[in-house]
Amino acid sequence: MARVEIEALRKSYGALEVIHGVDAAIEDGEFFALVGPSGCGKSTLLRMIAGLETVTSGIICVDDMLINDLAPRDRDIAMVFQNYALYPHMTVADNMGFALKLGGLQSGEIGRRVGDAAAILDLQSYLDRKPAALSGGQRQRVAMGRAIVRAPKVFLFDEPLSNLDAKLRVQMRSEIRSLQQRLATTTVYVTHDQVEAMTMADKIVVLNAGRVEQIGAPLDLYRKPINLFVATFIGSPQ
Ligand code: ADP
Ligand code: MG
Repeated sequence: MARVEIEALRKSYGALEVIHGVDAAIEDGEFFALVGPSGCGKSTLLRMIAGLETVTSGIICVDDMLINDLAPRDRDIAMVFQNYALYPHMTVADNMGFALKLGGLQSGEIGRRVGDAAAILDLQSYLDRKPAALSGGQRQRVAMGRAIVRAPKVFLFDEPLSNLDAKLRVQMRSEIRSLQQRLATTTVYVTHDQVEAMTMADKIVVLNAGRVEQIGAPLDLYRKPINLFVATFIGSPQ
C-alpha cells in the first residue's frame, strides 16, 4: 500500500521560485503521469519526492507519514533516471544488486531478488554482461531491475524513454505499463511526451511553469481540457 500526498509544495533555488504550490494525491497502485513542457518543474518535483532535492515549503506524505526530511534511502521509493545511471564497470547482476548490498542484505537474498527481477525483465542471459554490451532497451530494463529488487512502495520515473529510438519507445511503454500493473506499485512517471502519458497513465497532472493546470484521467483531460494550455498540450480537438 502506498498513497502519496503532496500539499502546497514549493521549491526555490535561491531567490527564484520554480514550484509554486503544487497539490496532488496519487492513489495506491496508480500510474500517475506528470507532464508539461521542458523547464516546467517536472524533475524538480520528482526529485523532491525522491529526497534528492530539499523541500522549500509544503508537505510530501506517503501513507500519511511525512517524508519531507527523510534521507532518500529511508523513503522506500525507487527512481529510474533518463540516462539509466548504470555503473559501467559492474555486471548487470551487480548493478541490480548494488543498492541491496549497500543496505546490508545477505548475498543469498540479493541473488534471489536479482534473479526474480531478471526473470520478470527477461534479462536472465545478460546477468554477467557489462552495460556497454547491452542494447538501449536492455539498459533501460536493468535500470528498472535496480528499482524492482528493492520492492519499493513507490516508483519514480524521469523521462525514462527519451534516449530510445521511436520504435523501442513504443515497445517500452507497454513493457513498463504491464510491469507496473503486475507489481501494482504506485508510480509517478515524468514525461514531456503527451502521447506517452495518454497511453500509459491512470491519471495525468499537467504542469506549466511550476503550477498545476489540471489533474484528471487521460480521457477527461482530452475531452474537457480546462484551458487552452491543457488543450494544446494534450492535443485535444479545438
Ligand atoms: P523539467 O524537468 O520540467 O524540464 P526542471 O525541474 O528540471 O524542469 O526545472 C524547472 C526549473 O528549475 C527550470 O527553470 C530550471 O532551470 C530550474 N532549475 C532546476 N534545477 C535547478 C538548480 N539546481 N538550480 C537552479 N535552477 C534550477
Ligand atoms: Mg526534467
